[in-house]
Amino acid sequence: MTTTMIDLINELWFLRRDIVSDGFDQALHRLAEEVPMRIYAYPSGEPCWTWRVPEKWTCHAAYLETLDGRRLLDYADHPLHAVSYSLPFEGEVSREELLRHLHVHPHQPEAIPFVFKYYVRDWGLCASQVLRDSLTEAAYRVVIRTSFEPGTLKVGEVIIPGESQRSFMLVTHLCHPAMANDDLSGVVVGLDVARELLAGPPRRFTYRMLILPETIGSVAYLSHNEQLIPDMYGGLFLEMLGNDAPHALQGSFQPDSQADRCFKSCFSSLDPTGYTGAYRTIIDNDERQFNAPGVRVPMLSLSRVEAPKSTGRPPYPEYHSSLDTPAIVSAARLEASKKIVLELIDAWERNQYVVNNFKGEVFASGYGIWIDYHINPQGHRRLFEIMERCDGERTVADIALELGLPFHSVWEVVALLQDKNLVWLNPLPQPTAPAR
Ligand SMILES: [Zn+2]
Repeated sequence: MTTTMIDLINELWFLRRDIVSDGFDQALHRLAEEVPMRIYAYPSGEPCWTWRVPEKWTCHAAYLETLDGRRLLDYADHPLHAVSYSLPFEGEVSREELLRHLHVHPHQPEAIPFVFKYYVRDWGLCASQVLRDSLTEAAYRVVIRTSFEPGTLKVGEVIIPGESQRSFMLVTHLCHPAMANDDLSGVVVGLDVARELLAGPPRRFTYRMLILPETIGSVAYLSHNEQLIPDMYGGLFLEMLGNDAPHALQGSFQPDSQADRCFKSCFSSLDPTGYTGAYRTIIDNDERQFNAPGVRVPMLSLSRVEAPKSTGRPPYPEYHSSLDTPAIVSAARLEASKKIVLELIDAWERNQYVVNNFKGEVFASGYGIWIDYHINPQGHRRLFEIMERCDGERTVADIALELGLPFHSVWEVVALLQDKNLVWLNPLPQPTAPAR
């Protein structure tokens, strides 16, 4: 019996899923009950290219009190009240000193912000702007009991074996304590896509779906699996897929890659309200590690984003705050996003070089594919425009982009030509004109 995406979110969202923590491990092990998963464990201090795996962090207690013992905020009520990876601290502090360490959300006065200091060591608490504004006394008492100890960073990998070792990566991040849309929504969509792929027929590509802590998890996985990198032909990072906003497809660092061309040529027909943007203009996440020097996997990202990064506004109003709860996530939107990911994968599987078995212009009537231009002038023109580009040098996506047609319209014609044995598909270019 599998658990639905929304039920998994409801079950796991409030866990304290800091990057190396018991809460993260608990969530990952729960997800591993849903799908066959390999779990990698990288010990604290382990070098990962230019990085090192951080220690495990645990917050045992954190609160702020007036000097007469009135408690103003408490980590026991909400995990976001402590800065993730805060140093321990206990003592009386002046109001000024406290305010230097008390973080608020820049846009949501009622919400507790998500603040993390994984590598810059400092102590800190988080509160709503409303609470901060009410602090008028000269001094307060701060208690933060946290511990740093050797632990292991976990990465979950679901492999869907394909007909070849060539692989396509789906990446999601499970960190962020007590938040739902960023990025538990991406995790459950990725997981459900993996379940569907595992249940379906074998694909041309091997698919690897990763569930990891943001940034350091990607670096840990890539640096310990370098032998896999040459076989990674493309990827899609999934994040923020439950909120009420149109889909945004962000291109990779290599905008001319077949992954970029393929996804861009189908995207507009999958979400008519959706939009696309260049690398790093919509969101910034784990796709950076895959696109980076020495790796260079063309990894796009799919998310529901109201305000792209280039606007300077948060991607959605509740972003990185205590308002990012299951209340802003809908099961229908998760389903719709999952469907889009599966359609993108279908196109990716079909996107091969179209090689002509014919020379010259095809005698269309002879093959029963003639379209009468008196009845359907547009269909007639399209058929011939597509056929004259079937030369072993263009993929389905290349033809679609060249003609400004949706991927699926070109695919329909290519499938028909394949049926008539006029073309065949090849994963690599196969030019058929004499070289000169
Ligand atoms: Zn985030």
